[in-house]
Amino acid sequence: MKYFIGVDIGGTKVAIAVVSETGKILKQNVIPTELTILPKEMIMKISNSIREILAQTEIVKNDIIGIGIGSPGPLDAKEGLITHPPNLQNWRNVPIVKWMKEWWSVPIILENDANAAALAEKWLGAAQDNQNFVYMTVSTGIGSGIIADGKIYHGASGNAGDIGHTVVDPSFGQCSCGQYGCLESIASGTAIAKRGSDILGKQVTTKDVFTLYDEGHLKIVAFINKVFKVLGVACVSIINTFDPEKIVIGGGVSQVEAPLFEMIRDYVRNYALNPNGRNTTIVKAELDQNAGVIGAAALYLDKISANSKI
Ligand code: ADP
Ligand code: ZN
Repeated sequence: MKYFIGVDIGGTKVAIAVVSETGKILKQNVIPTELTILPKEMIMKISNSIREILAQTEIVKNDIIGIGIGSPGPLDAKEGLITHPPNLQNWRNVPIVKWMKEWWSVPIILENDANAAALAEKWLGAAQDNQNFVYMTVSTGIGSGIIADGKIYHGASGNAGDIGHTVVDPSFGQCSCGQYGCLESIASGTAIAKRGSDILGKQVTTKDVFTLYDEGHLKIVAFINKVFKVLGVACVSIINTFDPEKIVIGGGVSQVEAPLFEMIRDYVRNYALNPNGRNTTIVKAELDQNAGVIGAAALYLDKISANSKI
């Protein structure tokens, strides 16, 4: 049996896992993303964590096919650089692949985190039977991975799918990218905690906001319903643009489940342009919090199936 190392770098946490060639997670670790230390120190922590979890297995280096890294974009996957992610503020042109190669003599692939998660959902999750679908993550930020004709749609520079920075409501205020009213600045977990705190006049977490929503807090219910509607707007834009068979939604915020999915489906049923599009299947990611690491491993399957050299 051969194994992959999957690394999923997020704005809140980094998940690291040893994944078998059948997609089973053997060992996993999650460490907080520390933004106050230098990127190289954080990457060294990731590398140490890989070493720690490998030491808990019987796996030897020759059994490892490679390390797959999913990271928030924008990035330069070919050069192995994390270039300009809004949610990793001091990470600018970080040569993560070069640094990891200083510590690991196995192949290393860098890919946009949402693309990796989309691959995982295609391999083992909610989109196994789909050749054309979009995976959207609603987490610290918002991103998407587009699978077209069974393959990741990369775009010219590998950064296609950055749906978090499409404008849905310019009146909403400025986004970290400089535009006004980006999807991410309204509906990401970070945005929900920030606006929720403003409404309540005290610091609260995203989960606190959803607890108040469940309890029927009037101002929070009105706010969250607007957030869900905005996610519906994003799904209609995805459907009108890509005509997918399915939209798979993952990331921390998707864990609120029913109200979020019901409102998004309702919006899509009313507003997708093509009558067929109104019935687009919209489901929760099946691999949940594991999609990132499994997807990072799946990057190698993609290479293998494309018959290219690893
Ligand atoms: P990352 O962005 O690091 O990949 P996540 O996908 O877990 O991490 O997303 C983190 C965001 O999701 C945070 O804003 C967090 O508050 C929010 N979140 C995590 N779990 C839940 C939950 N059960 N309900 C609502 N929001 C959640
Ligand atoms: Zn933006």
